[in-house]
Amino acid sequence: MSNRIETLEFQAEARQLLQLMVHSIYSDKDIFLRELISNASDALDKLRIASLVDKDLSADTSDLHISLEVDRGQRTLTVRDNGIGMSRDDVVQLIGTIARSGTAEMLRKAKEAKDAAASLDLIGQFGVGFYSTFMVADKVTLLTRRAGESGGTRWESSGEGTYVIEDVDDAPQGTAVTLHLKPEDSEDHLFDYTAERKIREIVKRYSDFIAWPIRMATENPGSAEGTDEDAAVTTEVQTLNSMKALWARPPADVDQAEYNELYRHLSHDWTDPLETIHMKGEGLFEYEALLFIPSRAPFDLFTQDGRRGVQLYVKRVFIMDDCQALMPNFLRFVKGVVDAHDLSLNISREILQQDRQIQLVRRRLVKKVLSTVRGLQTDDAERYRTFWKEFGPVVKEGLLDDVENQEAILEIISCASTHDPEQTTTLREYVDRMKDGQDDIYYMTGDSRLMIEKSPHMEAFLAQGYEVLLLTDPVDEVWVERVARFDGRPLRSIAKGQVDLGTADEKESTEPEREQRRKDFAELLSWLTRTLHEQVKEVRLSSRLTTSPACIVGDTHDITPTLEKMYRSMGQNVPHAKRILELNPTHPLVEGLRKAHEQDGSSDVLSETAELLYGMALLAEGGDLADPSRFTRILAARLANTL
Ligand code: ADP
Repeated sequence: MSNRIETLEFQAEARQLLQLMVHSIYSDKDIFLRELISNASDALDKLRIASLVDKDLSADTSDLHISLEVDRGQRTLTVRDNGIGMSRDDVVQLIGTIARSGTAEMLRKAKEAKDAAASLDLIGQFGVGFYSTFMVADKVTLLTRRAGESGGTRWESSGEGTYVIEDVDDAPQGTAVTLHLKPEDSEDHLFDYTAERKIREIVKRYSDFIAWPIRMATENPGSAEGTDEDAAVTTEVQTLNSMKALWARPPADVDQAEYNELYRHLSHDWTDPLETIHMKGEGLFEYEALLFIPSRAPFDLFTQDGRRGVQLYVKRVFIMDDCQALMPNFLRFVKGVVDAHDLSLNISREILQQDRQIQLVRRRLVKKVLSTVRGLQTDDAERYRTFWKEFGPVVKEGLLDDVENQEAILEIISCASTHDPEQTTTLREYVDRMKDGQDDIYYMTGDSRLMIEKSPHMEAFLAQGYEVLLLTDPVDEVWVERVARFDGRPLRSIAKGQVDLGTADEKESTEPEREQRRKDFAELLSWLTRTLHEQVKEVRLSSRLTTSPACIVGDTHDITPTLEKMYRSMGQNVPHAKRILELNPTHPLVEGLRKAHEQDGSSDVLSETAELLYGMALLAEGGDLADPSRFTRILAARLANTL
């Protein structure tokens, strides 16, 4: 094989991220070592699993470990593992590009961030991993050989735009990352990363729980007494980390700082978790679980390839990432570890999904997470609000997927409401405030709070002091269709079906008067129903309007326009559901139209007025006109007549 040497460019996004790292003013530069050790640890996990799956893999798994090597003269620090390694293509793909969705978005935000600290904060949330080495090194060399392959690859870059990649014959299995350290500088918070004390301290702080030994040759002066420069120096290889699995220790013996480090390792998030849940299952099926609720949503929460989920261990041995059998999709933001004692080491995802014990564990974990959030809600409103802001939309997906926990999820929901313009409300609080004689929980869905609040449907409810929940997340459109009740009370859309609030006007009028009105309007309504038959299925009188002339409502079981749009955007061909136009009989425009119709029958002018009436109702609820230019033309002509 010829020795291919190439100079390649980093992908644009990777280049931008590197720029941020090279010029970083982040004070906590120590974390680069954590990132490298974390990668090395993952590589060892991967090799162990690969060798279990493929018995023929020619790889040495006899002494899997990480070693840290220092050359003080050259000012280099090498982090070496004998794990899975990378092929040349892997290196180009994994190190030269950032494939994760949300990268562009993250970079845009980082650029817009007010100061460098805020932008670093965003990067921390994203997790830059390997690239963090460029905070402390002006050149990085990576030598790697993929387990099972014969040739290796050498990669080198100073983080400026390009890297050099070359084939090598004699690379050991695994990966060695060598940092050519920048000069030490206390101003810039750069410490001496070749100093044994510094390295020990960092490993202890960030990586103590790593399950593989992290070794380093440490210098022991021959005799402790009378050390002079020439004293014999012996080196001894030491393991720097205790390798203790945090989850296996009694909670009382673990302090929060240790939990936080494990969380960072698992989540690639640089911030502390919002909540830590440490639990143990005893009896027939023993397990330990250590779960974390992050304090902010990752960028990839709503993307397919997002990093997510909990890891499964069996008796301290890592088995798999993102074990979906243990955590449902609607809690995909929960990070952590579940260590089950009685499972086979090479259990497959499929078998796990079927395993009854695993299903039981999952049920316990879900209940525990939900009850933890419930606890926050009652004990720490501030943190609950943070949780809900970050994860509410995801949790609500559970209302569709998890019937068993529907009640528990409904208890922790909060949403905007007409009760308070600033604060959200829980369903429980809503119910406690319900008016005498009110049976239903009223809500309306839509694109924005403002749009819903100002929509004509709201008029009678506001006028009579009924509280309405304002639901604006896309998922709200769907779950309200699935969930019939909360606490025995029906959930009812104010934009659907008939309402019988008894408007002030209705209360004031007597039954014979109302009967008369129905008669008066009967002609107009049936004419309008015919005239607008392409747009609506019926035109009727409304009891939900006080000031607007008209609004459009759905039948109780009709699909809402927003949901219709959502399905369409997902490529599904849903039939268009015609709705109902409701008129406010006390509005001068409606009354005028009635009289005009009585006199003129059905002139073109009147048909146009009908069209305008329908168009206005559509606009008022934030809908889209089918033919906006026609609408404006008719309206402009009418307005011209008034001048
Ligand atoms: P992350 O670890 O967050 O995915 P990194 O930039 O740190 O991002 O690494 C990118 C990828 O490169 C890793 O996901 C892994 O596939 C690969 N990689 C990094 N370091 C190693 C290593 N020591 N051994 C094998 N693969 C590695």
